[in-house]
Amino acid sequence: MARVAIVTGGTRGIGEAICLRLQRQGHQVVANYGGNDEKARAFTERTGIPAVRWDVGDHEACIHNCNDIAAEYGPIDIVINNAGVTRDGVLHKMSFDDWNEVMRINLGGCFNMAKATFPGMRERGWGRIVNIGSINGQAGQYGQVNYAAAKSGIHGFTKALAQEGAKYGVTVNAIAPGYIDTDMVAAVPAPVLDKIVAKIPVGRLGQAEEIARGVAFLTSENGAFVTGSTMSINGGQHMY
Ligand code: NDP
Repeated sequence: MARVAIVTGGTRGIGEAICLRLQRQGHQVVANYGGNDEKARAFTERTGIPAVRWDVGDHEACIHNCNDIAAEYGPIDIVINNAGVTRDGVLHKMSFDDWNEVMRINLGGCFNMAKATFPGMRERGWGRIVNIGSINGQAGQYGQVNYAAAKSGIHGFTKALAQEGAKYGVTVNAIAPGYIDTDMVAAVPAPVLDKIVAKIPVGRLGQAEEIARGVAFLTSENGAFVTGSTMSINGGQHMY
């Protein structure tokens, strides 16, 4: 059945792959993005998927834009909380702003989008929320106390909201990607990246499409009995 799906941070990287996969499954997809209008325009030209700019860390903007999207396309049944940023630095050099900004966007964005869409899913008796966490939220990472805390928070948020949605046909799951070949990872210096790849048992970075396939399963009817879970897609880099 065709549903309305919002993918935050959907205009590039992992988000774009998720948009394309959900579109291929017949859903009406709307991508959100944070500020890069040029990339968003190119994305819409490439895919035919509308892209709407707002900051997922802004509570009112999430409510208002989700209401507008629902008015235009219909009730929002699928939300993929994928938008994320990094502001790396070791703790003694990390500013309070860098801490706050990463928490506000990565973790606050999940809360804001859930506030905007979960009540409707609950009332209609069907919904799918997938939150994109990270291997670094599971295992921690040097120089990322903000990012690791926000991503780890996503995993707790997922388990708590899953309990609230379970009786109402709303599943809430997380995916914890390992290192995926996107702009975010391209920003990692080459020598550091070589060391990272050396620690991935399958011997390569992941592809965005490999995360999108996980999302496709979790948002499908086949995923109805899976809730509160974290799907690790990381080439075997972190197992537990
Ligand atoms: P990219 O940096 O390639 O893309 C990030 C996307 O998020 C862009 O569309 C960007 O919009 C959007 N975005 C950033 N800030 C905001 C905001 N405040 N409001 C709305 N949208 C925003 O990221 P990736 O594709 O690499 O990562 C996607 C997700 O996967 C993130 O949550 C990331 O933390 C997670 N992840 C990624 C891994 C990797 O190896 N790449 C590993 C583990 C997790 P714009 O283009 O306008 O800036």
